[in-house]
Amino acid sequence: MKKTRMLTPGPTPLPENVRLSLAKDMIHHRKPEFKKILQDVQKGLQYLFGTQEPVLILSSSGTGAMVAAVNNLFSPGETVVVVEAGKFGERWTEIARERGLKVVRLEVEWGEAVEINKLSDVLEKFKSIKGVLIQASETSTGVLHPIQEVANLCQKKGIISVVDGISAVGISPCPMDKWGIDCLLTGSQKGLMLPPGLAFISLSKKALEKVKTIKQRGFYFDLLKEHASILKCQTAYTSSINLLVGLQESLRYFRECGLKNIYKKQKALTEMVREGVKLIGLELLALKDYTWGLTAVKMPAGLDASKVLSILKEKYGYVLAGGQGPLKGKIIRIGHMGYVDYVDLAGCLYALQKSFVQAGGVSGARNFIERAMDIYFKTLEES
Ligand SMILES: *Cc1c(COP(=O)(O)O)cnc(C)c1O
Repeated sequence: MKKTRMLTPGPTPLPENVRLSLAKDMIHHRKPEFKKILQDVQKGLQYLFGTQEPVLILSSSGTGAMVAAVNNLFSPGETVVVVEAGKFGERWTEIARERGLKVVRLEVEWGEAVEINKLSDVLEKFKSIKGVLIQASETSTGVLHPIQEVANLCQKKGIISVVDGISAVGISPCPMDKWGIDCLLTGSQKGLMLPPGLAFISLSKKALEKVKTIKQRGFYFDLLKEHASILKCQTAYTSSINLLVGLQESLRYFRECGLKNIYKKQKALTEMVREGVKLIGLELLALKDYTWGLTAVKMPAGLDASKVLSILKEKYGYVLAGGQGPLKGKIIRIGHMGYVDYVDLAGCLYALQKSFVQAGGVSGARNFIERAMDIYFKTLEES
């Protein structure tokens, strides 16, 4: 008998109280009982986003919120710059093009973060740019972009910063108001410890004014309609009721632990995995600016990551993620966001080393788990 442990960058494991809450009886989305839940959830979401603005709730996966952001903030023919540093950056380009926007692509080497000077140069060169589309954390590579600086730059230029925070919100700091982000969005199945199916998006006052000038925003993802609804503790259409009941539980967990402590844990888990991976003798993809919810590990040339992944699953019960696009077969992504702790990761490091060796890799590492765990507690205490 063995347990299956899913350590992927979404979906993520669910705490027991969240799972149990999902099994509750159906309630009606226009009755007072549900409004109370929405009211409570709204406070929790504002805490999570670090904003005074309403956080709009959409019944969709995270990509739905990306589409909503583009279609509500920009009209066809307008120009935006997309920071493309991985698969999810590319998704911004696809969505923007479908909307009929002119896209200036700022391509960044996969595994690296955008340099703020390069973004600044692009904004100087193309005066017609109305917004910047970027990921806070590029989940395909495990890179963290300098969002505070990006938002700052956009403020100075008077343009809109749109931040896909799907693998960052609730994982590493991304305070919307304090950093001056105009549009921040996330999904339910990553840091929030919920099943997939909900997306959240918030707009600054400046962004909301821009939305008001957009004529065709789409029928379902109309953020003005959702904005008006949430002020009345409603959603425009039938909510994913059970997921919102689950969300109430997961937000309770965030408020009880305190965001600061959650970030500390995330940082410590990240340092632990990075240390363990290095001691095993493997290389990390993101060397400098790395995210706190996942770690991308390179496989040596000639060793197919899928071989290691299948041993991890079949023999040790660990479900990890592979690479996307050009990184397919070349990397393994260890998700450590949400309801994951150091024991899950200690077992994972053990299984990773064994699977790597069984797949033909070379590692003579000793005591790497203990040393990685020591880093976990050291980071916790120091941060
Ligand atoms: C997971 C993820 C997405 C996609 O979200 P879906 O819920 O699959 O639509 C988009 N952007 C980032 C950064 C992600 O991590």
